[in-house]
Amino acid sequence: MAASGPPTSVVPFYDLSALHRQIRPELDAAYRDVLDGGQLILGPRLAQFEQAFARYCDVRECVGVANGLDALQLILEALGIGQGDDVLVPGCTFIATWLAVTRVGATPVPVDVHPLSYNMDPAKVRDAVTPRTRAIIAVHLYGQPADMTALRSLADEYGLRLIEDAAQAHGARWAGRRVGGGGHAAAFSFYPGKNLGALGDGGAVTTNDPELAESVRRLRNYGAQVKYQHERVGANSRLDELQAAFLDVKLPHLDRWNARRAEIAEQYSHALASLGLTLPWVAPEAEPVWHLYVVRHPERDRVRAALTSAGIETSVHYPRNPGDQVAYAHLPIDRTRLPVAGSLPHELLSLPMSPVMTDDQVTLVIRALQAVLR
Ligand SMILES: *Cc1c(COP(=O)(O)O)cnc(C)c1O
Repeated sequence: MAASGPPTSVVPFYDLSALHRQIRPELDAAYRDVLDGGQLILGPRLAQFEQAFARYCDVRECVGVANGLDALQLILEALGIGQGDDVLVPGCTFIATWLAVTRVGATPVPVDVHPLSYNMDPAKVRDAVTPRTRAIIAVHLYGQPADMTALRSLADEYGLRLIEDAAQAHGARWAGRRVGGGGHAAAFSFYPGKNLGALGDGGAVTTNDPELAESVRRLRNYGAQVKYQHERVGANSRLDELQAAFLDVKLPHLDRWNARRAEIAEQYSHALASLGLTLPWVAPEAEPVWHLYVVRHPERDRVRAALTSAGIETSVHYPRNPGDQVAYAHLPIDRTRLPVAGSLPHELLSLPMSPVMTDDQVTLVIRALQAVLR
């Protein structure tokens, strides 16, 4: 024990090893099965997980890929989006949403986010559409589903593809329907810290369009359906058997884990009202999965420092918008069109949130915030 040192926080942001201890025998068995089975890439465990995840999302097709960024990129490639095309993206998101667009040769065009949901604001889409616009990527940020009703009708009106970045929203619902099937295709990430995480990198594309699924299936495997017959310039982006087996073990626990997150969110929202924090807002049509519980405060750094002193680990998602990163210094971004997104990086604070948090830990976070803000 001494070798790895004592825990530095009383309340860690997310104790992943505690999660895995809950299901250790199942994970051990999955590992042994794959080892004994001998097939490590594109085998039965992947097929089984793809089926199970498609059923979970209530979609026809699921294609396992190497990570969430690749999932987005392969969707864009399969849709034929590339050089000369614009893709609308939220001004505030993890940079992967933008990177996928850039990596296929298209241009990310930021749309401001809604002041309460922090998701792409449908009211701002019209102003961003030009004849070059081909698609919208709606991100379900922090596990809060984007307004799929409004975005779908805008996409239909302008003849655009609607892609979901569901990397933070496994299991969330908008208007009663699971994310993953509300647009032309959706990208999921199984990065370990996501609501459904592998023991390494992983991702998936879901869609109700079998042809699109088939294109992604080829693109993830060197552009070939039949070995050594390459029809397109593909990638090597497969979800391996070991990760698929671990994910298959974890999927049946996802709803229980998401329910625990919702319980914690409810405790936070109840106890933290009227402390001067802006709390997360849930749209009437939304059933979020609380990937993160993000509050806002004008003196975020002071609040955060007080929590750190109290042994509470917090995070910031995200300290800088993609459009303000050095990587995107070459893009001509009109920041006057992004007032909400521009104000968020200085004020957002992510509180500890995970299915393994105890009630005592939730209470510690609440008490620490009450102490600093009262
Ligand atoms: C995590 C994440 C991704 C990228 O997923 P990776 O598996 O890490 O490549 C994309 N978009 C959003 C919103 C994410 O949170």
